[in-house]
Amino acid sequence: MAARPILLCVDDDAEVLRAIDRDLRQEYGARYRVLRADSGASALDTLRQLTLRGEMVALFLVDQRMPRMSGVEFLEQAIVDYPDAKRVLLTAYADTDAAIRAINAVKLDYYLLKPWDPPEEQLYPIINDLLEDWQASYRPPFEGIRVVGHRWSSRSHQLRDYLARNQIPFRWLDIETQDEARKLTELIGADLASLPLVLFPDGSHLCQPENRAVADKIGLQTHAELPFYDLLVIGGGPSGLAAAVYGASEGLRTAMIEREAPGGQAGMSSRIENYLGFPAGLSGNDLARRAVAQARRFGTEILTPLEVASIRIDDPYRVVTLTDGTEITCQAVLIATGVTYTRLRAPGLDALTGAGVYYGAALTEALSCQGQDVYIVGGANSAGQSAVYFSTVARTVTMLVRGESLSASMSQYLIDRIHDTPNIRVRTGCVVAEAHGDDHLEEITIEDRGTGERETVPAFSLFVFIGAQPCTSWLDGLVACDERGFILAGPDLPRDSRGKHVVGWQLDREPYLLETSVPGIFVAGDARHGSVKRVASGVGEGAIAVSFIHQYLAGLGVGA
Ligand SMILES: Cc1cc2nc3c(=O)[nH]c(=O)nc-3n(C[C@H](O)[C@H](O)[C@H](O)COP(=O)(O)OP(=O)(O)OC[C@H]3O[C@@H](n4cnc5c(N)ncnc54)[C@H](O)[C@@H]3O)c2cc1C
Repeated sequence: MAARPILLCVDDDAEVLRAIDRDLRQEYGARYRVLRADSGASALDTLRQLTLRGEMVALFLVDQRMPRMSGVEFLEQAIVDYPDAKRVLLTAYADTDAAIRAINAVKLDYYLLKPWDPPEEQLYPIINDLLEDWQASYRPPFEGIRVVGHRWSSRSHQLRDYLARNQIPFRWLDIETQDEARKLTELIGADLASLPLVLFPDGSHLCQPENRAVADKIGLQTHAELPFYDLLVIGGGPSGLAAAVYGASEGLRTAMIEREAPGGQAGMSSRIENYLGFPAGLSGNDLARRAVAQARRFGTEILTPLEVASIRIDDPYRVVTLTDGTEITCQAVLIATGVTYTRLRAPGLDALTGAGVYYGAALTEALSCQGQDVYIVGGANSAGQSAVYFSTVARTVTMLVRGESLSASMSQYLIDRIHDTPNIRVRTGCVVAEAHGDDHLEEITIEDRGTGERETVPAFSLFVFIGAQPCTSWLDGLVACDERGFILAGPDLPRDSRGKHVVGWQLDREPYLLETSVPGIFVAGDARHGSVKRVASGVGEGAIAVSFIHQYLAGLGVGA
C-alpha cells in the first residue's frame, strides 16, 4: 500500500500543537499521515528523515511565533526540498503583517488566525481546498530502493545489474544529472567517493555495499535453513532452475545456490524467441522470475548471492563449501554453473569495463543509450539479439564482426531481423584494436582484418559477446573435464585403453547419463562438455538429471 502523504504541523506551544494535530487527524487521518514537531529545528529533522524515505509532504501548517525559528524562517528552508507542499501559517492578530510579507517570501497559501473554532467552518474548508489543489498535481513517489551513483562507475553498473537481475525494483539517480541524487548524498553526509549509495524505503542506507549486504537488507535468503539436503543445485540458470523445480516437486529437499542472480545467462537475454510455449518470445528476466516463483512454490530454498568454492567428498555425503567458508551437506550435487563471457583483449578495454564497456546484454544500460551510437562486438545469436534490442533505443547500432558474414554463427531469423532494421549496421572482418577514455569509454579504434587499416570513432557504449568459458575452475580437478574445462559426464567420461572401464570409477554400475566422474555429482547445461547451449536444452538437462539423481539416491537406500 502506498505511504500516505504527510501533513506536518509545527508549533512550540504544546496545547496549540495538540489541538491542531487532533483536528487534522479527525478529518484527514484516513488519507494523510499527520505528523507534529515542537520546533522548526525538529521539523527540519523530521523532513530530513522523510526525504531519505522518499515520502511526500502535502501541507505544512506552522505557527509563525516560535522563539528560535519563526514559521516563515522554517518555511523558507522546508520548501527547498518540498516546493510543491502547501503552506499555511498559524498567526495571532499581531502577526498579520508578517503573514502578508510571507505571501511573497515563501509563497504562502494561507494564513489562519488562532483559534480556528469551529474547525468545520474555520479550518477544514481551507485545508480541503489546498489539498484538492495539491492532489491535482500529485504523483505518488517511487517507494522502492533508490540507487545513487555515477553513470560511468563500474560498481554502480554492477549494483544496478544485480538489482535488475534479481527483479528488485529500484530507481536509478545519476549524481551528475539529477538534483535529487545530489540532495540525498548531501543529506546522508556522504562524499562522492562513497558512491554508489543505496537508500531503502525505511530511510536507512548503505554506502558502496557488496551485493550480499543489499541481499541481507532486502530479505533474499543468504543462509541455508536446513543442516542437510537431498539435492544441492549449484548455479541458478535455466538448468539449475529446472532441476530445482523438478527436484523439489518430486519430494527432494532441494536448495539452489546462485552467486549473482537466478536466470543465469538467460536472465540477460532481452528476448528469447525460440523457447517452446512462448510464441511471442519472452525476456530472460521474465523466464527467470517465473522459474524462481515455481521453484519456491515447490519448496526449493534459493540461496543468493552465494558462491560455491569447492565440493568435498565425505561418503556417502557431498559437502559444498561456500566462498565465505560455510559448509552445506547433501546427498547429491548438480553442477549447473554455465559459462561466463570471454574477455575481449585489446589495450584500454579492461580499465573501462563497466564504464562504457560491458559484457553481456547489460540491459540496465539500455536507458542510458537512448539516442546514442552503440557498438556491439560479436556475430552469434546473443550479439544479434542485443543489436535488435538496442536498436529500439539507440540512434544507431554497429555490429563489429570478426568473421566475413553472420551466417556461420547466427540464426537466420535474427539475420533477417537485423537486415530489416534500418539503424543496425553490420561491419564484418573487423576487430576492436583499442579503447580510449579517461573515466569512461570515449572512442574505439576499429581495425580491418584484411587491410590492417585502422579507424578511431567516438563510442560511449560497447557491448561484447565473443564466446564463453565454463565456470568450473573452482572444482580444481575434482571431476573430469575436457581441455577447455567443460565437465565430462556419462558416456563422455574417459575410459581405459580397452574402453571397458571409466577411468577412476569404483562402482559396479556405469555412471548415469549426466553423472560426472564422481558418483553423486551430476552436471547439466552449458557447463557440460558437448552441451547444446540453449535455454531449452539446459532446462531439459536439469529435468533429466533429477531423474538420475533419484536413481542414485535409491542406490544409496534413500527414497524420496
Ligand atoms: C544474451 C544472451 C542471449 C541468449 N539468447 C538465447 C535464446 O534466445 N535462446 C536460447 O535457447 N538460448 C539463448 N542463450 C543461451 C542460454 O541463455 C544458455 O544456453 C543458458 O542460459 C544456459 O543455462 P545454464 O543454466 O546451463 O547456465 P547459465 O545460464 O550460464 O547459468 C549458470 C549460473 O550459475 C551461476 N554460477 C556460476 N558459478 C557459480 C558458483 N561457483 N557458485 C554459485 N553460482 C555459480 C552463474 O552466476 C549463473 O547464474 C542466450 C545467452 C545470452 C548470454
